[in-house]
Amino acid sequence: MVDVGGVKVGEGHPIVVQSMTNTDTADVDATVRQVAALAAAGSELVRVTVNTDEAAAAVPRIVERLAQDGCRVPIVGDFHYNGHYLLTQHPECAGALAKYRVNPGNVGVRQHEENFGAIVATATAHGKPLRIGVNWGSLDQALLGELMDANARSTAPREAREITLEAMVESALRSAAFAERCGLGHDRIILSAKVSEVRDLVEVNRRLAARCDYPLHLGLTEAGMGSSGIVASTAALALLLQEGIGDTIRVSLTPAPGGDRAEEVRVAQQILQSLGLRSFTPQVTACPGCGRTTSIFFQELAAEVEEHIRRRMPEWRRARPGVEEMRVAVMGCVVNGPGESRHADIGISLPGTFEEPTAPVFVDGKLHTVLRGDDVAPRFLSILDDYVVSHYARP
Ligand code: SF4
Repeated sequence: MVDVGGVKVGEGHPIVVQSMTNTDTADVDATVRQVAALAAAGSELVRVTVNTDEAAAAVPRIVERLAQDGCRVPIVGDFHYNGHYLLTQHPECAGALAKYRVNPGNVGVRQHEENFGAIVATATAHGKPLRIGVNWGSLDQALLGELMDANARSTAPREAREITLEAMVESALRSAAFAERCGLGHDRIILSAKVSEVRDLVEVNRRLAARCDYPLHLGLTEAGMGSSGIVASTAALALLLQEGIGDTIRVSLTPAPGGDRAEEVRVAQQILQSLGLRSFTPQVTACPGCGRTTSIFFQELAAEVEEHIRRRMPEWRRARPGVEEMRVAVMGCVVNGPGESRHADIGISLPGTFEEPTAPVFVDGKLHTVLRGDDVAPRFLSILDDYVVSHYARP
């Protein structure tokens, strides 16, 4: 288990959701706003780029401003190329960050050990954990060359893809062993190996998990935009998480221009919730609709229920612990409606085409009431609110 600013990552602890800002870290106001938004959406760790002296100087101010606003989400620094310089030249930044992320593929070629050693020494001196994050696109070329040469000399050479995945695993494990030799505790190291292809991500993380007990950070790098990024990330992470591999996840979605960065947090939460690994918000089960639902009323009600829950969750999360376990069903007709509604904590079965215009509501598996008329939506939401108040007591 690794403690990242009070958030426990690893064996025996819930899988941690994390995210990353896309603001210029030197812009303190913009970064504070985005970190706060990501944390409010449920990100339990937030990573920021630390790429310049200005960004490094801004980090302690960002952490302080967030604390003044009551936001204590641990901030992780993402370093490439000049991490050794920035961390040693900006001790306040090194102290303010909860964890450093470093890519062994770009800490320098000729002074690789010296630079990486400087980062490890800073982490050790400040008592900070380190994520050794190997990336397919910036793999340690010297190590890859060494393994490719050995493969070429082999009597049964393997495919280049195989060797590249092996190089990623070796890079992470050798770097972790080096960090431990330099004095960093075993319990201060998290590993990640990121690629952009689902089957490669699954394969490389299976190999890593088989060869070490460090906590693993999972994420498909450059997953892409919109539904394709969501589906690819879900496919890869679900396979690994289902096998018990992975301790913290990030979903790297490319937001549309002006889009909401917090979407990646909601997707990560939904992946964990769908797999039954964690609960973040009440689950709304809605049927997809079909030819038996010719009106759009049931789609509107499902959307309204989702929106109502999203609006109420900040208050419910504080005042009604356990509400995130609640299951709500909004169903389109009598075929599966009553059955699915009975299995939920609270459910409504709307009338399909040619059915009697009534909507039975089920609470805890029993028929509670039958709604009809023009005010079905507000009355169902009112029953939902009453259910939360009566079933989830104030702490
Ligand atoms: S519950 Fe009814 S409306 Fe919904 S998908 Fe099934 S048959 Fe269609």
